Amino acid sequence: MYDIIIVGGGAAGLTAAIYTCRKELKTLIVSPEYGGQTNLTSHIENYPGFMALPGWDLMTKFKEQAEHFGAETRTNKVVAIQKKGEKHFVVHFEDESKEEARAVILAHGKLPKPLNIPGEKEFFGRGLSTCATCDAPLYKNKSVAVIGGGNAALEAVEELQKMGAKVYLVHRREQFRADEITVKKVRKLQNVEFVLNHAPVKINGEKFVTSLTVEDVSAKKRKDLKVDGVFSEIGHIADSNMVKDLLRLNDHGEVLVDENNATSCSGIFAAGDITPVRYKQTVIAAGEGAKAALEAHRYLTNGAPTGEYAK
Ligand code: NDP
Repeated sequence: MYDIIIVGGGAAGLTAAIYTCRKELKTLIVSPEYGGQTNLTSHIENYPGFMALPGWDLMTKFKEQAEHFGAETRTNKVVAIQKKGEKHFVVHFEDESKEEARAVILAHGKLPKPLNIPGEKEFFGRGLSTCATCDAPLYKNKSVAVIGGGNAALEAVEELQKMGAKVYLVHRREQFRADEITVKKVRKLQNVEFVLNHAPVKINGEKFVTSLTVEDVSAKKRKDLKVDGVFSEIGHIADSNMVKDLLRLNDHGEVLVDENNATSCSGIFAAGDITPVRYKQTVIAAGEGAKAALEAHRYLTNGAPTGEYAK
């Protein structure tokens, strides 16, 4: 029996593990991959203590530090969590194995939102990407479409344009969610074409992507953009199925927490992007992970009830 099972190996989960291990709580982290969203940033310069470094370097340091203090890590996906009694949880994994713990910290972040259009499944990894930072170098001097109107989409356009790609920015409205300063910067870039008021309707190709079909949202007229790659940057969604019957979620599937990161289920804590925290930032996820760990420690050692806010 573990003291704590942490679901998710990004900034929140790894920080939580550093804290629980230093409190000498037997800790297991379970995650399909380690590093989370921070891995996708090539240049992080707002994590205090480091002037600038690649996100994956920072996350490697987080993981090394958690392991140094005794955290066990397992590469697997959590599919269900069962509450057996006070301070007794069973955590089920995708491969049908399971582990037990006295408390659980949810820190599994979010997943890229699907486009739900034909071609998405077939071409994922064969011209369709959700990570410009990872895949932009593959499109040097090629032609690509970026879908979305938030900061992530606009930053992807900048990254791809730097690679010498011809970039279409496909957005379903005229107005952007992205910061005005970023929109202004991108509007001035050469080789970038704004395809506004158009929605993506189909990704086409044979072995790899050859075009993206877009549709004018009012005239309903369709056209094909001849591209070698499509970057979907339309936001992220929470996958909270594993706990939906155990605790309170908001309408976006985010896990509701009180100011100390306790959820509405006593013994389960949550931190980072899976909670409604407004700012989805590495430094904030790390801080929230530390809070969740300290609260879990308080619960395990004092027997203090948690999740009071929901009562
Ligand atoms: P956002 O939710 O901000 O933007 C998503 C965009 O995708 C919207 O413009 C939305 O259109 C569009 N969209 C959503 N669904 C679809 C769909 N099915 N088809 C077509 N378009 C769709 O997500 P981001 O990932 O850009 O950003 C998430 C958060 O992270 C934000 O708070 C952002 O500010 C932050 N962030 C900050 C960065 C930074 O500060 N450097 C970098 C990247 C992200 P519509 O507007 O019409 O809804």
